[in-house]
Amino acid sequence: MMKKLPVIISPYIKTRYPYNKLKICRRCNHFTVLGDEDCPVCGKSSLLGVEQRAASILKRSMWGARVIVMLIWAISLVVSQSILQTSLSIIGGAVLLALLWTLQRRLTPALLRVELENLFHKEAYTLVAGLANDREEAIKVFHSGNKPLAYEMLREIGALVHTDQLRIEQILLLQSFMLRKDMDLMIDPLLMDHFNTDLVEYIGELAKIRRDLLKENTFRYVLLHEIQILKMEQGDNILASVAGAAVRMQRYISLYPYLIMRYAGKLPKDRFLRLYRMLQSNPEIGTGPLYEEVMRVYNEKYKWDEDFRSTGNETELK
Ligand SMILES: [Zn+2]
Repeated sequence: MMKKLPVIISPYIKTRYPYNKLKICRRCNHFTVLGDEDCPVCGKSSLLGVEQRAASILKRSMWGARVIVMLIWAISLVVSQSILQTSLSIIGGAVLLALLWTLQRRLTPALLRVELENLFHKEAYTLVAGLANDREEAIKVFHSGNKPLAYEMLREIGALVHTDQLRIEQILLLQSFMLRKDMDLMIDPLLMDHFNTDLVEYIGELAKIRRDLLKENTFRYVLLHEIQILKMEQGDNILASVAGAAVRMQRYISLYPYLIMRYAGKLPKDRFLRLYRMLQSNPEIGTGPLYEEVMRVYNEKYKWDEDFRSTGNETELK
């Protein structure tokens, strides 16, 4: 078994949109999610956020429209042949310019989004190449021995690039670390469509130290691949840990009663106690095959256990 490394991982800084961290170089047009100022390709400190780039393109096109209106205004003034025509031109031009200005100001957020989409569309090839280069940089860091930094870099790229290869690389790195509950870990972005033993082992570990991270997507993944998981060496223990995590919320007990039922007998005492109490105190979920199985396990293992007789309010476990 591989020796696990004690590491420190920086917390992941979430942004509203994944592209919020994406930057483009003003000099060589290279995209990256890894640099703050210095471009990883040309080395110059000319990185600019993609939103800033879109905003500056938009500003230019807005000024272009204003200049055209002002030109039309000027021409109309020049060709005016009477005082009336000149007055009408002055008023008409001013109204048109004010209208354009107001419209542009109001539409700026929507126009910015369009400009950003245009930028991604126009630079699609450069964007893909830039992110591929970022991944290569992360692999270089990995080979240099700085695994935590390599993971952090892959995690940043993974926010924009959703490929299984990138997910597997992150999972393998995570599996080489000693995971602790105070680490900023994640599961949803790493879930794949197909069965993967490393992913399942990672889920099993999270089910023990960060069960709050296991949500519907993870339970669905585990249920979908349950037969293959059972063939793994520690498969049934992993499934029992996942079932123990599902006991965390009444909603999950209602949604996945059969998963919990199948591993109720293997749950650690604290998880089984929580399940038992949840079923006792919630009549709407406390019926059916799950209830019968829980009562069977209770009668077999915990019938004379003092902890099962108290109300349990003082030791509410999540
Ligand atoms: Zn550059």
